Amino acid sequence: MNQKYEAVIGLEVHVQLATQSKLFSGAPTHFGAEPNSNTTPICMGWPGTLPVLNEAALKLAIKAGLALNCRIAERLKFDRKHYFYPDLPKAYQISQYDMPVNGKGSLTIELEDEQGGLQIREIGITRAHLEEDAGKLLHEGIKDGSLVDYNRAGMPLLEIVSEPDIRTPAEAYAYLTALKAILQYLEVSDCNMEEGSLRCDANVSVRLIGETKFGTKTEIKNLNSFKAVQKAIQYEIDRQIEIVEGGDRVVQETRLWNDVKSQTFAMRSKEEAHDYRYFPDPDLVPFTIDRETVEEIQKSIPELPAARTQRFMKECGLSRYDASVLVGDKKLGDYFEAVIATGADSKLASNWIQSELLAILNERKIPIENSPVGADALAGLISLIQKNTISGKIAKDVLPMMFETGKTAEVIVKEKGLVQVTDTKLIEEVADRVLAANPKVVADFRAGKGQAVGFLVGQVMKETKGKANPKIVNEILTQKLS
Ligand code: ADP
Ligand code: MG
Repeated sequence: MNQKYEAVIGLEVHVQLATQSKLFSGAPTHFGAEPNSNTTPICMGWPGTLPVLNEAALKLAIKAGLALNCRIAERLKFDRKHYFYPDLPKAYQISQYDMPVNGKGSLTIELEDEQGGLQIREIGITRAHLEEDAGKLLHEGIKDGSLVDYNRAGMPLLEIVSEPDIRTPAEAYAYLTALKAILQYLEVSDCNMEEGSLRCDANVSVRLIGETKFGTKTEIKNLNSFKAVQKAIQYEIDRQIEIVEGGDRVVQETRLWNDVKSQTFAMRSKEEAHDYRYFPDPDLVPFTIDRETVEEIQKSIPELPAARTQRFMKECGLSRYDASVLVGDKKLGDYFEAVIATGADSKLASNWIQSELLAILNERKIPIENSPVGADALAGLISLIQKNTISGKIAKDVLPMMFETGKTAEVIVKEKGLVQVTDTKLIEEVADRVLAANPKVVADFRAGKGQAVGFLVGQVMKETKGKANPKIVNEILTQKLS
């Protein structure tokens, strides 16, 4: 990136609230239902129907607002946002215009700088308001016209708008990761991007460093992963700098990200933008939220990712990196806690989960909560390593067998005779044999090639089929060679 410029980025995130029914009707919300089956006359905007606010959705919105340090509104109002499009049966969307449930707040993000140091930044939240989703048009495989599925129409959404405080694509990525983790810990949303329960639009502008005014922004839509957000923002920054450097002006417009081409394309300019003619929805009168309700919701907020990361560092001695990987996925953090609850060493547990266990699960596309090797089973394996019954190397062979057979580590080790050889007499015998068979390596070692001992250790391990305790082998060989 051109060093004279800096980027200014603001994100608008829509998350679907995890309620059983829609925002203003009793229609169900589950994903994957037959098109237009999760609907009621209210979702379809039939004349004479009246919306009724879903209390559960309001409470989830407040819960998210509290976790994002937002000022919670005392008085609440819903407004109609008008546009005409077939995905919107009423021709208006019920949203919140000037009295959102959640006012100003903040989100702290952490990221590594180029020197590997930790950078902590606070990103302002402008607001987080409630609104209903629209339906979905389907064009694929249809010759004449389009089909429409209203299952999403009326789904409860929380739109979380950030201040233009984000400066780099990496910060945008960190913001989204932190936001998603918080919302998942709160059980406010499952934040599943594939199913559309988390969507993000990115607003980007550039300006000369030192300039205090913002440049003209573009808004990027159609971002279907956090990686895509990061890539699209970088593309847009580069594109805008090129325009400005060329003496031209950035046009304020909405652009679409094309993931295949890794480019953004103009969709519509601000001139064509709609006038939404917002006005208060007369069917939903303004109301007051009492403070007791807010306090009650505050009490229901569990330990959040930042606090959990601190705890894993302080109480379990994990590095910040390891702690945040485990905490980043709530279920993974829960699994780790279940393993160490059995008394397993926390660093061993962290390493085994993050390397060996996740490698197998990722390969088989199994989420951690469905792991065939449960926390107790992994703890059993780790305990065998801690007791020196098996070496870490053998344990790496045992874990896949646990996946295959469903047997415990202890049973597998017994059945296969994998118990570690710690019998020094036996190891000495093998060591003598190895030394006798490799006179040249021994001579090399004596001539000062210290690394030759590694080869000899390897030979002893091979002869014992990996079962000798490597530490004892090392000690014995060093002793015999000195
Ligand atoms: P609009 O009226 O176009 O919707 P808003 O003021 O509502 O714009 O802001 C929408 C989002 O764009 C917010 O996340 C905000 O932080 C961000 N934003 C506003 N101005 C800029 C800018 N100049 N550059 C980058 N992002 C911006
Ligand atoms: Mg906006």
